[in-house]
Amino acid sequence: MIDGRVYDVIVVGAGMAGSTLAGVLARAGLGVLVVEKEPRFRDRVRGESTYPFGVADALRMDLGDLLGRAGCVELEAVQTYAQGQPIQRYVWADDAVDGANEIGFSHPRFQETAFAWAASQGAHALRPAKAVAFAHDERPRVTVVDDGHEETVSARLVVVADGKLSVARRWTGGETVADPEHHRFGGVLVAGVRTNDRRSDNVAWIDGEAVNWFAAGADATRLYLVMTAARLRETGTDRSFAAIVAYASPFMPEGALTEVEQIGPIGFFPNNDIWSSQIAGNDVVLIGDAAGAPDPTVGMGTALLFHDVRVLSELLLAERDWRIAIATCARRRERYFAVIRENDRWRCLLRNDRGPEADRLRERHERAKQRDPTLGGFELLEARGPDGLVVDDEARRTFFGQD
Ligand SMILES: Cc1cc2nc3c(=O)[nH]c(=O)nc-3n(C[C@H](O)[C@H](O)[C@H](O)COP(=O)(O)OP(=O)(O)OC[C@H]3O[C@@H](n4cnc5c(N)ncnc54)[C@H](O)[C@@H]3O)c2cc1C
Repeated sequence: MIDGRVYDVIVVGAGMAGSTLAGVLARAGLGVLVVEKEPRFRDRVRGESTYPFGVADALRMDLGDLLGRAGCVELEAVQTYAQGQPIQRYVWADDAVDGANEIGFSHPRFQETAFAWAASQGAHALRPAKAVAFAHDERPRVTVVDDGHEETVSARLVVVADGKLSVARRWTGGETVADPEHHRFGGVLVAGVRTNDRRSDNVAWIDGEAVNWFAAGADATRLYLVMTAARLRETGTDRSFAAIVAYASPFMPEGALTEVEQIGPIGFFPNNDIWSSQIAGNDVVLIGDAAGAPDPTVGMGTALLFHDVRVLSELLLAERDWRIAIATCARRRERYFAVIRENDRWRCLLRNDRGPEADRLRERHERAKQRDPTLGGFELLEARGPDGLVVDDEARRTFFGQD
């Protein structure tokens, strides 16, 4: 049950973004209510790796203990494969913020641990409790259905963290904007992958399709595939575990999947960016996928949400006027999401387009990389994050070697 008090902050949605923010703000002494509609967290085939810049944000918020309790494992490198053979290993430590590594984890275990952690920090953490309506008079008010009862609760600020298909994002006065779908991304959680390298994020691309696998905690491996909706139907990989294994095996080291076992559901989702036209308004601010969800193939979503939590919590804890704080948060969010989205579009052109023009683009890009291995900083995006990068004509020319 919700008590009748006015909270400092109501957080809608206890995904990784909502629970982490609720815990960080409650730890600092704010009165926080976080509501989650699901009675328990389950494998929905979501992000299970976080790039180093997001890990560095989490560590700067003193969340190392939470990451440990959530069973996160360190992934020290990105290992690229071709025809089942390792071809290139990129080690994070040299480039990443604070020397942080990427991490792998079980998404539902992370959510469960973060939800309990938020409560242990003093947040009122409620589930199943669904936010169903919003109103604003002197303060923002959210109507919550909790245990069959409808109650209205007030706060100084509402933080919306209800995910990519957010309904509540329109509470800021904005609307949902989406790029068209190009490919699909998804897969399955497995056990028994035979490989001697559980400390890298492994990827193999061929002709615009990909297989990606990495340790999602101590015992499990997440196996993701990238392909178009038409190819999913043709290969049957969206329906059958046997089809996933048959498709993925040639991309991976020989024998890697011979004893593999399915331990989660199969799920595939559209590869596109979806975001809100307005991040803050009406004493509401959006974070995580609700603010803007990047194409899942680029694997930025969870790093971005830790970045959001750090940016917003630091502003709220430093600034008396929370309308100024959320307006500043919104401006920064728009800027860094624009960098991630543009980078995503550029990489899509390189990976997915076919024909002589696309081949020329790839050649020029490779030459540009020889001249400037950082590609104006965009090649270090996963390690260092989007702050400080600007997407303009000059950046585009540097990336594609057109200067
Ligand atoms: C196939 C796939 C693979 C991905 N791979 C990666 C990856 O490798 N690396 C990476 O960084 N990211 C990846 N992502 C993205 C990543 O999963 C998301 O960015 C991340 O889960 C977003 O977290 P969130 O807390 O913002 O939203 P969510 O995880 O969607 O959480 C929102 C929560 O809000 C709750 N909720 C919704 N509505 C209400 C309501 N009205 N009232 C109360 N509660 C509500 C939901 O039940 C949910 O628990 C992937 C995504 C997909 C689909």
